[in-house]
Amino acid sequence: ATPLALVAATGAGARRGVLVGGPQVLERLGRIDTVVLDKTGTLTAGAMPVLAVSVLPGEDTGEVLRSAAAVESVSEHPIARAVRQAAVPYGTPSPAADAVTEPGRGVRGEVDGRAVAVGRCEDPETLPDVLRDAVGDADERGHTSVVVTADGRPLAVLTVGDGLRAGADGLVGRLKRMGLRTIMATGDRPAPARTVARRLGVADLRAGLDPIGKADLVAGLQADGRTVAVAGDGINDTAALARADLGIAVADGTDAAIGAADVTLVHPDLGGIADAIALARRTARTIR
Ligand code: ADP
Ligand code: MG
Repeated sequence: ATPLALVAATGAGARRGVLVGGPQVLERLGRIDTVVLDKTGTLTAGAMPVLAVSVLPGEDTGEVLRSAAAVESVSEHPIARAVRQAAVPYGTPSPAADAVTEPGRGVRGEVDGRAVAVGRCEDPETLPDVLRDAVGDADERGHTSVVVTADGRPLAVLTVGDGLRAGADGLVGRLKRMGLRTIMATGDRPAPARTVARRLGVADLRAGLDPIGKADLVAGLQADGRTVAVAGDGINDTAALARADLGIAVADGTDAAIGAADVTLVHPDLGGIADAIALARRTARTIR
């Protein structure tokens, strides 16, 4: 059948803030039974301010932030934007040499002859007291903390505010009422992720996943017979977005995520995900 209703629904979807890739995409959207939601930058807002900088005694906050910003210059991650912003009052960052991103982990490079890394705190227990306490406080609030190291030595913990994105609040309940299974997947540590999951009512949380881990999660669900949508924002989500039956990128996501996704939300409100699935289901009924 000529999918006229599908075409019409595609137009309606676009007006609601969902850009649907085409009729086939809408059909797949209507068959989704599982939604995997990325945490940082997807369920949480794209703009994440640095809320606190905890440095070891004797370290200079400005210098630590400038070094961190220098290596973050190669990253599009919301954390990178936050760190660069936080360093602005302290003057121009020194240039970083050979800076690279490790998706789902952080960035590293050479600044003033030192190997500087900014990234996920692997084990707070190994940090000096002041820094460990900063991580503990952030975990309880659901904020993300990243560690700045120089030549392998931890110098500071940056607490990055991880506020919820518009529409995140009601999304999980709504998906549940629609009979969908919802899973939160994140490269972040379990502790802050649990706080966010609890706040949103997500019962199924998978934390500490690298980009391959996210794609494997999707493949495992598919092997169990699930039809899976993934919503994500980052380079670290591209493998999972590509693997999914339907990839959904948030509008302010990285170009890599938007390129790997079938659908891009054009408005920041995450309610568009549930809207799109509901619309696709109604459309499927109209056509049959
Ligand atoms: P999520 O899967 O929730 O979107 P990511 O996989 O993007 O999270 O990041 C996982 C963790 O890796 C972050 O919580 C952070 O600790 C670290 N990280 C990733 N990118 C960066 C970066 N550019 N700077 C510092 N830390 C980063
Ligand atoms: Mg993300």
